[in-house]
This record gives sequence, C-alpha cells and structure tokens, in this order.
Amino acid sequence: EAKRQGRNGYHFYTREMNSHSYRYLVLENALAKALSRDQLEIHYQPQICLASGRVRGMEALLRWEHPQEGMLPPAQFIPIAEETGLIEGLGAWVMQRVCRDLQQLEAGGLRPEWVAVNLSPRQFRQADLVQTYRDILRQGDIPPQWIELELTESTLMQDVDAAVNSLRQLHHLGFRLAVDDFGTGYSSLSHLKNFPIHTLKVDRTFVQDAPEDANDAAIVTAIVAMAKGLGLEVIAEGVETSEQLAFVKGLDCGLVQGFYYARPAPLETLIPLLETPPRNRLPPPH
Ligand code: C2E
Ligand code: MG
Ligand code: MG
Ligand code: MG
Repeated sequence: EAKRQGRNGYHFYTREMNSHSYRYLVLENALAKALSRDQLEIHYQPQICLASGRVRGMEALLRWEHPQEGMLPPAQFIPIAEETGLIEGLGAWVMQRVCRDLQQLEAGGLRPEWVAVNLSPRQFRQADLVQTYRDILRQGDIPPQWIELELTESTLMQDVDAAVNSLRQLHHLGFRLAVDDFGTGYSSLSHLKNFPIHTLKVDRTFVQDAPEDANDAAIVTAIVAMAKGLGLEVIAEGVETSEQLAFVKGLDCGLVQGFYYARPAPLETLIPLLETPPRNRLPPPH
C-alpha cells in the first residue's frame, strides 16, 4: 500500500495519521460506550408506493445522540465503527431494536410490509452474521420476511462469489434483500441476475440531478426499466422536490423514499402516516 502511494510512502503515512486523529480516537472511545449509555437511536424513513400512496416499507437509520456534539449522522461514526469492529455489536443492537419496534407496530395493526436494515461491508463478511440475526429474530418472534436487508452495490462487488453465497444464506432464512446506492458501484450487470434480491435502490445522486441533468435522467430511466424487466421492486432514493417526484412517477417507478414525503424521524412521529391512508395526509404527487 505504501509503495503504491509513492516512493517515500508519505501519502500513506499522513492518511494513517488522519484516520487516527485525536477526534477519531475520542469518538471511538465514546462510541464504544454509546450503547451501554443508551445514546443510540433509530430513525425511520418511509418508502412509499407511488401508485397507492401507501407506506410499504421503512428504512431504519442509526443516530447517535452524543452528549456534547448533539445528534451525529452515521457518516460521522459508521466508518469508525466499521474500522474498529464496533459495527458488529451496533448491527446486532439495530436488529434487536428493529424487532422490538416491529412487535409494537404489529400489535397496533400498523406494521408496514417491511423494515429495511443497512449492513456495512464488515457486517456482511461477519462469520456469524446469519446465526446472530436468526437468534435475534427468534427471540423477538419476528418472521425474517418482515425485514429487508440493504447492501450497497459496492459491498456486493468486493467479492462477488462470496456475496452470492452469503446472499443465498440470508435469502434462505427468509429475509428480503435490497441493493442500495445502485448505479455507483461499477457492478457488472450480469451479476444482478445471480443475486436473490427483491429490490433495487437507485442512488440518490442520480435522482437529485434528474430531470435537469440529461445524463442522470437517462441513468435513472435505465435503472428503473432494468429493475422492472428483472421483476424487482425499485425505489428512487433522495426525492426532495415535486419535479423529481414527477420525473420518477413518469417512469412508473414503484417506490420513492426522500425528504419530499418524509425525513427520517423517530418511530412515534411516523405513526400517523402508518395509520391514515397517506393519500389523505401527504401532498398529492403532481
Ligand atoms: P443509505 O442506506 O443510503 O441511507 C439513505 C440516506 O439518505 C440516509 O442518510 C437518509 O437520511 C438520506 N436521505 C433520504 N432521503 C433523502 C433526501 O431526500 N435527500 C437527502 N439529501 N438525503 C436523503 P443517513 O441517515 O445520514 O445515513 C447515511 C448512511 O449511513 C446510510 O446510507 C447507510 O449506508 C449508513 N447507515 C445508516 N444506518 C445504518 C445502520 O444501522 N447500519 C449500517 N451498517 N449503516 C447504516
Ligand atoms: Mg440504505
Ligand atoms: Mg442508499
Ligand atoms: Mg448511501
């Protein structure tokens, strides 16, 4: 690695120093205690069916209520958790919390079809992942069909053969599977048909510049068409404006997720969307 960066290894050295900066070490330390100090929370963001206006799924998104820094987004701590291995414990906690929330929703007659849970590359490689998830679901008496696991395209492409194998195990257990951030990971499209997946999520960077940017519009159009051709659900991520909504609606994209309809929020605040037909509550699609 050092050699690839240049003869003296200078760049490698500074990068290493940066990734273990003072802030990094302080956050790492605090993150290790965040679980036992009850500082972690899950926010949920609805995934809405464009045809019916109904909430079909919700994505679970981790939040860290840091005592000094306030609510930290995952971009500030997931990479640390990933590098240090803390992500394995955090991931198990997320699944436990999601199961608890699913129990509550089910009891209230408010459960959407699925809750989506993100997996980082390290979790996906975790040797006891399948067993850990299976145990958590059994303890909570939750059918795996209620949970959609989201893996990014780049996670899946790191080792395609291993990925197919792991996906088959998770699929066999009964989980729904989604490819997240699709379009950014340089996948060979031929691999898609070997993945036992239900859902493609179009990366929000494409959605955000469509329809103004003709290239992004073409990419979104192609991904939606391909997903439909493969019989997959397709979710347009990051829909913020009525123009973006109208654009993906015109493509007959099945589902949308984005600030236009709802930002990620604590479960309690989403209850009204789950109990009332959203058509009556949300601004109608143009
Ligand atoms: P992701 O899985 O692609 O999640 C979607 C991200 O897009 C979320 O950011 C969400 O808040 C954001 N988003 C949704 N709609 C919009 C929109 O209309 N506009 C904009 N600008 N953003 C939108 P968030 O919550 O900051 O999460 C970032 C990433 O952190 C996630 O990306 C996921 O990769 C990771 N992550 C979150 N929770 C977990 C977790 O429990 N475990 C793991 N391993 N990773 C997680
Ligand atoms: Mg995701
Ligand atoms: Mg995404
Ligand atoms: Mg992402």
